[in-house]
Amino acid sequence: TEACLSAIEGAGALNAVVHKTPEIALEQARAADGRIKAGNAPDMCGIPLGIKDLFCTRGVASQAASKILDGFTPEYESTVTRKLFESGAVMLGKLNMDEFAMGSSNETSTYGNAVNPWKRGNDEAQLTPGGSSGGSASAVAADLCLAATGTDTGGSIRQPAAFTGITGIKPTYGRCSRWGIVAFASSLDQAGPMTKDVRDAAIMLEAMCGHDPMDSTSADLAVPDFEAMLTGDIKGKKIGIPREYHMDGMPEEIETLWAEGRRMLQAAGAEIVDISLPHTKYALPTYYVIAPAEASSNLARYDGVRYGRRAPLAQGDGITEMYEKTRAEGFGHEVQRRIMVGTYVLSAGFYDAYYNRARKVRTLIKKDFEDVFAQGVDAILTPATPSAAFGLGEMKEADPVQMYLNDVFTVTVNLAGLPGISVPAGTDRQGLPLGLQLIGRPWEEGDLLNCAYALE
Ligand code: GLN
Repeated sequence: TEACLSAIEGAGALNAVVHKTPEIALEQARAADGRIKAGNAPDMCGIPLGIKDLFCTRGVASQAASKILDGFTPEYESTVTRKLFESGAVMLGKLNMDEFAMGSSNETSTYGNAVNPWKRGNDEAQLTPGGSSGGSASAVAADLCLAATGTDTGGSIRQPAAFTGITGIKPTYGRCSRWGIVAFASSLDQAGPMTKDVRDAAIMLEAMCGHDPMDSTSADLAVPDFEAMLTGDIKGKKIGIPREYHMDGMPEEIETLWAEGRRMLQAAGAEIVDISLPHTKYALPTYYVIAPAEASSNLARYDGVRYGRRAPLAQGDGITEMYEKTRAEGFGHEVQRRIMVGTYVLSAGFYDAYYNRARKVRTLIKKDFEDVFAQGVDAILTPATPSAAFGLGEMKEADPVQMYLNDVFTVTVNLAGLPGISVPAGTDRQGLPLGLQLIGRPWEEGDLLNCAYALE
């Protein structure tokens, strides 16, 4: 813990840790020492973690990287962080992210962007660590913590993991409780671990997940011993290669990476099969209707009364002016864009044309996966991202759709509620890390982790 705290002190330029909690960390570390000495240390005992700013942590600022939550210090602890601390984990601080987890580059944060510790060859230009869990990815990759929590609504664990050469798993929807995690799009959001390797992900996931009566979508299922399932034996497993994921204009090095992944799984005894997920091309537009719709509803609670910050008011301002001024200055541009899109697709005249249609397409996307799993496919291999990490500022000013295209391989997994993992798998020509994604059957995170283990 002390080594991590001093690493954090030396890594201010990464802007990964936005709120440091050294007193809490040292107190938790001492308690962990006590449990270790007493011989009853759970798996996470004494492990120093960074916590994404989206998780409410009792008595510690939790702002979801938004100005509107300035000054908000929750009275309660999210279920996921409570479970981690009960199993002995140590909190070093809160980590940077895109505002309300909306983004793919960590550039929408009120704290300014986090920085990727990786560079392109000898080029000094700063790169994005990805988003929205960019601070988590940067902190783990730069050894500021041993692991971090992330959340993934459309790729926010897997894309930053791929951009920084670490491992990240989004579990099946319902595996981790969402209670106490600031909501973005409630039918898509899931928490998961971001770690240095697959074994750490297995250990940490087990400590984070499990049934929680406080979240009605949390599954009442036993939590397997994920680490014990890492045998490395994937003989006879059927791995599907979805033909629709061969996108036009995909860089050659991504194709090469994908082919290398197929070869490695085959060498480990897996059977590689071509599969079709025919509704893949509708996934991005479907996601960018459903996610903003749910976000616009979830964000209605930030009104200047209940949480965080209220804009200064002028003499004679009433409640409408208070809402307008607070929300206009408290939410950043991308968040405002999502609210506008979300309220539009939910409005009476457009509900059927957009929101309801997107829900129907979502069902078809889910059914594509059900069909291939019914044909005996155990897991699906795809690239995690369409490129390596890009430069800070490179996409920010462009058309927002360019940024949304980053999520092309990851959003299908959230729409279908499936588990997905990104594992580091080599580098591009300039030495930047690239990730491969494996998508698993619902509730089969153990098998999924084991397949990923064979790729390490
Ligand atoms: N980049 C996606 C978005 O902006 C996904 C974000 C996420 O998974 N939280 O919505």
